[in-house]
Amino acid sequence: MGDTAASDKHALTKLVKMKALELGFAKVGITSADDFPDHAAELMQREDYQARWCGPKGTNSLLAGCYPRDLFPEGKSIICLLHAYNDIDFPEKLSKHVGRVYQNRSYVPTQEQLAGRRLQAFKDFLSNSGVNIYEGPEELPARAACFRAGIVSWGRNNFARTEENGSFITLYVLLVDADLDIDEPGRPDAEKGKCPDGCRICIDACPTQAMQESGRLEWTKCVLFNNLRGCANIDLREKVGERIHGCDVCQMVCPRNAKALAAPKRKDAFLEVLTEEFDLEKILVLDDAYYETIVKPIMYNYIRDFEIFRRNAAVALGNSGDASHLPALTRALELSEDETTRETIAWAIEKLSR
Ligand code: SF4
Ligand code: SF4
Repeated sequence: MGDTAASDKHALTKLVKMKALELGFAKVGITSADDFPDHAAELMQREDYQARWCGPKGTNSLLAGCYPRDLFPEGKSIICLLHAYNDIDFPEKLSKHVGRVYQNRSYVPTQEQLAGRRLQAFKDFLSNSGVNIYEGPEELPARAACFRAGIVSWGRNNFARTEENGSFITLYVLLVDADLDIDEPGRPDAEKGKCPDGCRICIDACPTQAMQESGRLEWTKCVLFNNLRGCANIDLREKVGERIHGCDVCQMVCPRNAKALAAPKRKDAFLEVLTEEFDLEKILVLDDAYYETIVKPIMYNYIRDFEIFRRNAAVALGNSGDASHLPALTRALELSEDETTRETIAWAIEKLSR
């Protein structure tokens, strides 16, 4: 590469990184558009993943994302952005029911979320700088890309993490056609981030025993997976507890998150107001107005079917141990016309009546 080309490359890299930090991302790193063979091999070992998410290379979201240049032959670099939310004072009442990343509205944000607008502002900056971004449906392996860009490591609980922010981070990765300076892969942060020998605190704390000794997640046991199905698996209903949208247990108990959790906190005024209005009994009989104002702003990612929300609320109320919810459950049982929801409510009534 000639001196001028190298200097243009350095200049654009600097601009890109400065813009990311200016927009409030906590970290930014850049890796190449090379394949992710280790991630692909791991996916291929998972029979359940293959059945549900992966077809032959190039025909599905997760596996295809391991081969960025097959998706976007012009792709030269992957820009890795990290948003941190360990400094938010998440309301305790809400955190019993909804995972912190969802309360933070930063995970796969829509254009309606502040996080989505910020990401779009960064994309607009790239476009205005003549950089093209791959916008296809396939997902690049965000954790592997951010590790290769040197901005995260990860531990046995599978969550990407940094020293400063722990695992309370959201990752965004953009495959672009710009030739940018590539960062060193995940060292030394990865070395520092390794789990202590013999630590299995997260494995033991998992309410549904979803984590194997190796750290591999049995994803159909994880609380979120069960929430997505309205807690249809009766064997796991009690273990899901009062969580209706995700679970933070394996992050909250991790000693390597202690420093990030001890950082000074600030309140999110929106969450404070939302928490005052948050009521499982209203989700039990969810209607459009309550969905739009209270549920959708923090639970927009996965669930669209109101019956799923209603069933999760029923399970959470049944697991609350608070018999004062029995009248609301009985009313909901009378109102519901959905057979599976009625069965779930009946389960909750039976549990609270013991
Ligand atoms: S998120 Fe919760 S249910 Fe899923 S592995 Fe972690 S502790 Fe277990
Ligand atoms: S709890 Fe222990 S084993 Fe689990 S991620 Fe944290 S340090 Fe690693």
